Amino acid sequence: MDKDFVDELNELLGDRFSDSESVRSNYSKGEDIFDPVLPLGVAFPNTTEEISEILKICNNFKIPVVPFGAGTSLEGQVVGIKEGISISLENLNKIIEVNKDDFDCRVQASVTRIQLNNYLKDQGVFFPIDPGADASIGGMCATSASGTMAVRYGTMRTNVLGFTIVLPTGEIIKTGGRSKKTSSGYNLTGLFIGSEGTLGIITEIQLRLNPIPESIISGICHFKSLDDAVNSAKEIIQFGVPIARIELLNADQMEISINFSNLSDLQVSPTLFFEFHGTEKGNIESIENCKEISEGNDGFKFKWSKDFKERNKLWKARHDVYWSVKALKANARVYATDACVPITNLAECIRFAEKEIQDLSLKAPIIGHVGDGNFHVTVLYDPQNKEDFKIIRNFSDKLVKKTLDLGGTVTGEHGIGLNKKEYLLLEHPTSLNLMKSLKKTIDPNNIMNPGKIFD
Ligand SMILES: Cc1cc2nc3c(=O)[nH]c(=O)nc-3n(C[C@H](O)[C@H](O)[C@H](O)COP(=O)(O)OP(=O)(O)OC[C@H]3O[C@@H](n4cnc5c(N)ncnc54)[C@H](O)[C@@H]3O)c2cc1C
Repeated sequence: MDKDFVDELNELLGDRFSDSESVRSNYSKGEDIFDPVLPLGVAFPNTTEEISEILKICNNFKIPVVPFGAGTSLEGQVVGIKEGISISLENLNKIIEVNKDDFDCRVQASVTRIQLNNYLKDQGVFFPIDPGADASIGGMCATSASGTMAVRYGTMRTNVLGFTIVLPTGEIIKTGGRSKKTSSGYNLTGLFIGSEGTLGIITEIQLRLNPIPESIISGICHFKSLDDAVNSAKEIIQFGVPIARIELLNADQMEISINFSNLSDLQVSPTLFFEFHGTEKGNIESIENCKEISEGNDGFKFKWSKDFKERNKLWKARHDVYWSVKALKANARVYATDACVPITNLAECIRFAEKEIQDLSLKAPIIGHVGDGNFHVTVLYDPQNKEDFKIIRNFSDKLVKKTLDLGGTVTGEHGIGLNKKEYLLLEHPTSLNLMKSLKKTIDPNNIMNPGKIFD
């Protein structure tokens, strides 16, 4: 590492810049399929102004930077860069203000969604985006995360009002504001959502909030076939039932989850999990509609519950599906696909994936945020077995092609990172050049997370 570079960082941060091997190894990868890459060092800034100074130094010495939130991303977004540093945002963990009557709040980048909701719960409001993992809000913006509640409340794209951002040159800018809508100039807030740390570092976020619903009820229904379950989900959406969550687990995933999460009263068959938010009267009406539609598609054992404990057990099992698959084999990795298609094409896309899985004899359960047309095939594999990986990648390539043919996107919510760069080109052949020129304009020395999203 250049001595002058290290001296400048040490002078700015003291022992909040570390080059110890154990620290570097903690920031060498996320929850992804890649081998770890240790950065040269890790910086732990306390403020936006310190981040600005760090980026000025890095830009001056042309040292690459990887912003690091909670490290839960799945596509290699935070894999270290060996000639660069990682910047951990963990000290930016304060909730700055809550305007509960306007349903908005401002937080620092490293506040996690669970931390925020614990803080908000006595004020009658909540932040609805729920990617399962306890991700940081900054990381969720940078990957344009969504998850189980997007069908009702939208994604990060719909729930962020504005940012404070440090650009690669060290310049600090503010985008957006507190108002619910704006026509004021280019949508720079939107540009940074999904930018995966390649354009700058988000330090503060203005978020939309929602009232905590008067009544929350969850439900579950088994189906004879996956097609029946997917068709029910499609009809429930088309019927306009105001559903807050509608999640699919195929029979394989149900078997794994029943064993992992002790769900002894459930059955190994394709299953939909539901959640309803609203008034009790409205929820009961929605439940009746869902039951009728599901039973019309050969759904059986439709159950619902208001009980908080039962509801939590069910959703914890849903959120644990990734870990339940990973736990099947020591030292295995999970390759998660992220197809998202218009809902009328969902059944065809899932059928295609299922047939390929069977033909290739893969261990690959399917889960889906089916209300959004989004599903994941989670393929378990041994990273030492390169042949297995080739087969999985080939499967993923075919599924991506099918997804695009069906009018979908290569990633509904996980982002591009290192893993889906070729797929981005397939999806956006005509706009990739514009993306690259925007990157060049904002980050002329290419220091921000280079090599992620595109080369
Ligand atoms: C079990 C499990 C389930 C998951 N389920 C879902 C799901 O349902 N839906 C979903 O959307 N995702 C899901 N994910 C993926 C993951 O949680 C999201 O991608 C999340 O948004 C990442 O946030 P993070 O704080 O961990 O970011 P990190 O992994 O730390 O970083 C992700 C990217 O954001 C950049 N970044 C981080 N912070 C900042 C910042 N402040 N400024 C600029 N760039 C920054 C990083 O450089 C990197 O490119 C799941 C992950 C796991 C492990």
